[in-house]
This record gives sequence, C-alpha cells and structure tokens, in this order.
Amino acid sequence: MIKPGDVIPYLKMCQEEGGINLQRGMNFRLRGGFSIILMSLRPDAPYADEVINEGKTLIYEGHNIRKTKGAPDPKSVDQPSQYPGGSITENGLFYNKAEEFKKNEKDAEIVKVYEKIRKGIWVYNGLFKLVDAWIKSDGKRNVFNFKLEVTQYEEEQEEKYIADLDHNRIIPSQIKYEVWVRDSGKCVKCESEDNLHYDHILPYSKGGSSLVAENIQILCARHNLAKSNKIE
Ligand SMILES: [Zn+2]
Repeated sequence: MIKPGDVIPYLKMCQEEGGINLQRGMNFRLRGGFSIILMSLRPDAPYADEVINEGKTLIYEGHNIRKTKGAPDPKSVDQPSQYPGGSITENGLFYNKAEEFKKNEKDAEIVKVYEKIRKGIWVYNGLFKLVDAWIKSDGKRNVFNFKLEVTQYEEEQEEKYIADLDHNRIIPSQIKYEVWVRDSGKCVKCESEDNLHYDHILPYSKGGSSLVAENIQILCARHNLAKSNKIE
C-alpha cells in the first residue's frame, strides 16, 4: 500500500486508482470510490494551490472551463459550477460536499491527493478531509477555493498515529523540488531509482521539520524500512 511521501511513476499512480488514466485534476468519487485531487506547485503549474498551517492544510484552486476553439481563454472566465448543459462540474460537486459538511449534514468528504513533481513523477500526499470551500475573485474573475486538511483516516490506533506523525504533514512542494534535485531523484544510500520515499531525517515526533530541505532526504523502500526498524 502506498504511504504519504511515496514517489510513484504516473502509471503506478493510475494502477493504484484502478487502472484509470488520471488526467483531470479533480475527480469526485472516482468510480464511486475516493475523491482524488491532483496538484502541482511547480512554477509552470496552471493553478494557484497553496500549502499552509505548517503543512497540515492545503488550499486547492478549482478548475477552469475546458479550452475549446472559438471560446474565450479559460483563464479569463469564472470557474463554473455547472456545465452549459446543466450538469454539475467537479467544482460544484466538491463545493456542495464542503457545504454539507459545514452545515453538519454529512461527514467531510475524504480526498486522496497526489502531487506532480516532474514529468511522469508523482508523490502521494495522503488522505485529506474537505472542510471548506468558497468562491473568490482572483482580480479578474471568480475562482473556487477548497480547503483540505490532512487526516489519519486509515490510522485507528493511537499508537500508530503517534508513530506516523511524519505522515501528518505535507512537505511543501518547493522543498520536495529542492530535495529531488539535490538527491538527483535517487536513494541517498544506494542510488536506487525505484520505490522512493521522502524521508524525514530527524522524525517530526523528535522535533524534525518538514519545512527545510536539510531535514528531508530521498530513500528507497528498503532503506526507508531499515531506518524505521532501527528507530523503533
Ligand atoms: Zn536505497
């Protein structure tokens, strides 16, 4: 099973989600399962996503209308909650869920978040709760914003929760990026390029930070396991 911080090739990410070619950024209850969000904070990323609250909260921007010939530039048009035919867009579906949660009508929607760090290379950021949504002006037009908080949905035991604190923080994209370049996308112990993971050198539970590249390194699954066995 994949863990937050795992580096995975695009094809493996698609396999993980039942063999679907994931292309859209927002996927509400994909095939009736989890909702999935794909994010990208690289400099050329099309949307203004943001990691705040020391890595515990993600603000995700909604999506534009599709680019079509003869239609206006999608970046100049309000992000829609409905398609011209009247059905609800992913923006609308996520927004409605956040509203239901805020009115205490439903549990928060659980969302899996993946982040692109390089062409074909993604990082699993973990499970999040969709806790809020709003529409704001970006200066030219209205865009959706979604607030997602890291959750420990799968971790039921308190002990496990404490052991897993490192996975309770998103490593900011800039840091992921910096570390990827510094470590050349390889395990720092054996230079393997497979089954990589973003590892906290000093664990969060011992005062280590997710926010500085000096405390983050890339390890393969084998060396990551060897390290956690030593600590426990
Ligand atoms: Zn290794």
